[in-house]
Amino acid sequence: MTDAPHAAHPDRRLLIIGPPGAGKGTQAARIAEALDLPAISTGDIFRANVGEGTELGRLAQSYMDKGEYVPDSVTNDMVAARLSEADAADGFLLDGYPRTLDQVAALDGMLTERGRELDAVILLDVDLEEVVARLVQRGAEQGRSDDTEETIRRRLDVYAEQTAPLVDVYSGRGLVRRVDGMASIDEVNAAILAALSR
Ligand code: ADP
Repeated sequence: MTDAPHAAHPDRRLLIIGPPGAGKGTQAARIAEALDLPAISTGDIFRANVGEGTELGRLAQSYMDKGEYVPDSVTNDMVAARLSEADAADGFLLDGYPRTLDQVAALDGMLTERGRELDAVILLDVDLEEVVARLVQRGAEQGRSDDTEETIRRRLDVYAEQTAPLVDVYSGRGLVRRVDGMASIDEVNAAILAALSR
């Protein structure tokens, strides 16, 4: 065996998936730090573009404010560009992507092109009513324009319709590590790291 730099954590290409408000962003940042991987959040990239007033930002905002998904073609191109950056060559943690079956196919294509595969999909399991409460609170604290109760309900419906089916796809590939997302941030973090090292 050669001395691989990340031998302790062989899982290098990871997804974190779960409904809005499950805590994906919080956990993604911590897991990425622990495993020395870039956390790539499509929601964060869209919000950065909104903040900078780019054309992509203006387009994305019109969907985000309604709780709808940005069109797949736009999102797929953006992720393909991001995964081509040097820091993602040796692994990444994708947060909030893929969210549709079309995005799953697009990501499969990006990985195949590079001769890579996904290693694991972290699924954050949460109680949906609790999630609405968390998001309403986040809207009040952070002023995120898509964290109003009406938009939150729409995002949960869109998740159930378009994203929940991805869990079956990835389960079929044996990739899903289900983690209880209702515990404290530290406990969830520890559970994810334990699930990844199994
Ligand atoms: P949450 O998981 O709480 O909904 P995100 O920051 O992940 O928050 O996403 C916010 C919004 O950004 C989504 O409601 C959607 O409009 C847009 N978005 C993020 N990721 C994607 C994606 N993969 N495909 C389409 N739209 C996306």
